[in-house]
Amino acid sequence: MPAFPAAAARAVADDQLRANLRHATHTIRDKRARAVAELADWAELREAGKAIKDHTLRHLDRYLVQLEEAVTAAGGTVHWAADAEQANRIVADLVRATGETEVVKVKSMATQEIGLNEALAAEGITAYETDLAELIVQLGDDRPSHILVPAIHRNRAEIREVFADRMGAWGRPAPEGLTDSPAELAEAARLHLREKFLRARVAVSGANFMVAETGTLVVVESEGNGRMCLTLPRTLISVVGIEKVVPTWRDLEVFLQLLPRSSTAERMNPYTSLWTGTTEGDGPADFHLVLLDNGRTTALADQVGRQALRCIRCSACLNVCPVYERAGGHAYGSVYPGPIGAILTPQLRGTAGPVDASLPYASSLCGACYEVCPVAIDIPEVLVHLRERVAEQGGHPVERAAIAAAGYLLDHPAALAAAERLAGRTRALHPRRLPGPGRAWTDSRDLPKVPAEPFRDWWRRNRT
Ligand code: SF4
Repeated sequence: MPAFPAAAARAVADDQLRANLRHATHTIRDKRARAVAELADWAELREAGKAIKDHTLRHLDRYLVQLEEAVTAAGGTVHWAADAEQANRIVADLVRATGETEVVKVKSMATQEIGLNEALAAEGITAYETDLAELIVQLGDDRPSHILVPAIHRNRAEIREVFADRMGAWGRPAPEGLTDSPAELAEAARLHLREKFLRARVAVSGANFMVAETGTLVVVESEGNGRMCLTLPRTLISVVGIEKVVPTWRDLEVFLQLLPRSSTAERMNPYTSLWTGTTEGDGPADFHLVLLDNGRTTALADQVGRQALRCIRCSACLNVCPVYERAGGHAYGSVYPGPIGAILTPQLRGTAGPVDASLPYASSLCGACYEVCPVAIDIPEVLVHLRERVAEQGGHPVERAAIAAAGYLLDHPAALAAAERLAGRTRALHPRRLPGPGRAWTDSRDLPKVPAEPFRDWWRRNRT
């Protein structure tokens, strides 16, 4: 992937993409605003969500151990994964131990983050996405571009084409004469997925929350596909980031109000599935929980950046972001797009690579993301903090040389005065555009003219 500015420039040139994104984000953001306005105590709920997450993160070690004990007592097995490679290894070994070569998947950001599908494919195991939007992405050999609506960049006609062309290669083909009516598209997906649900012996999920006091995992969704995966197979493997733990059921109550209104603008989620270990004769007989770090403890050590771990992946910040609305999700080069991606990805992956170093700049700092965030993550504050980190790594060589020259001049008043006079006398020769890394600035702004006479000379002439 190129760094954000190049990837965004390409996306912005795509009129169809921009039209799809604009329509979708505006529809969701308006519905969210109406759903939130219904609650008189939204501000208090938001404050409670923030406080619970901060408390949990402060005592994460304690709550994770409590969670492990509760899951184990309920018949589950807990695995700890320090990074993506370890998590993928654990899941692949667990699937291989069942003798199966197929798994069905519940929509999960954590498994996308670690590249689980690709790692399983390398071991000869096929992972089938069952969330409708994830199915569209998988069939289209595409990448998700939104946290909640991974195929937001596709319109109905494009989806019909993907179904008609690609469903047959992955299982039951699309019905003959499929149109782009939403009901027909949903029915085609339903028929295609149903045979996978009935055949699958192993499922892989993430979780929106984990309740430490009872070892209960929670998945909220709108389609019911998740519940099919969570209940029908014999073995269930859940890969969950360590920051998803909440201490008690009372805490969960707060998030089950914040999340649906912020994400799908619903008063409650159509499907809220909860499971605690295993129960004989009911649901999967074998349950494994893989607790994923993959950079989260590094983020936790950063006093400003750690607030990103409060995120409940509602995607409200994406839907209001003017940058996301125009550039779309692919430009962020990460499974976490939009404002949350711009602060989470560089913390999980570090800022050494060009894509990750460009992400903190993928924002106008307008603050709309902070206003809608249900757990009050001050995204602009973290963006500026991360920009500082990137700048400290050393920017472009021309930038560094310019700053060194400015440092020298500001330290030597006589040299500064001489440079000002020289700049004034040669002003007719100054370029209208800056070269190198400054070019982007003057592509959309006029370079201010240097005055013929330096201010200090004018002052001396007129006021002394
Ligand atoms: S940062 Fe806030 S608004 Fe954005 S996805 Fe996370 S919880 Fe939602």
